[in-house]
This record gives sequence, C-alpha cells and structure tokens, in this order.
Amino acid sequence: MHELSIAENIVEIIHQHVDEDRLRDVRAVGVKVGTYSGVVADSLEFSYQAITAATPLEQSFLALEQISFVVECEECNQKLINDDGVTQCSSCGSFKTKIISGRELQVKDIELEDVKKELV
Ligand SMILES: [Zn+2]
Repeated sequence: MHELSIAENIVEIIHQHVDEDRLRDVRAVGVKVGTYSGVVADSLEFSYQAITAATPLEQSFLALEQISFVVECEECNQKLINDDGVTQCSSCGSFKTKIISGRELQVKDIELEDVKKELV
C-alpha cells in the first residue's frame, strides 16, 4: 500500500526533527498534500494512526492541507486550478503549461505540546 510507506516516511521525518524524549509531546503534524499527488488522504491518516499506535507518537495526528493542482499557461500566462490533473490550458487550449502546485507531499510543521517546529 502506497500510503503506508508514506506514513512510515512521515514518522521518519518526525524522528529526525524531534528528540527521542519529546516524541510523546508531538500533536499535530502538518502535511501538505497535493490533490494530484496520488495520495488518498483518508488512507494516509489511517495508515499513520495504525503505525503510531502503541508508540510514543500515539497521541499525534496528521493535519493534512490539500493543495490544489495549479498550472500556468505559457501562451496566455493564466494560472488555472485543474484539480482533475488536466494540464491543458482551459482558457486558450494550449498544452504549453507548467505545473505550479498540486503534486507536493511535504511535512510542513510539527506541533509539540508547547512549541511548533516549522520545517519549510
Ligand atoms: Zn492559455
């Protein structure tokens, strides 16, 4: 399962940024998820809860922030939100577009009981 390995990855990132003896204080873990990243939010949350159960991270949870899929047209310079993942410009029909956002999967911050660590 794709989301399970992502959840494991997130746990690894938390371990890199939080001291061992503070893991119990971790609460919300902010994660940016692009609508076109291929990640199912519910499934990711479920996987995270499953692998952190009965560990020092059991009181933590994911705070997912959905990031829209946005492309910018190189012909007419419009920025378009295409959450279905279409890269064609819906304004002029051009395929010369570049992806601005929507594919990211990134741990943004980790909130401990008394302090918030910004990672990006
Ligand atoms: Zn265009």
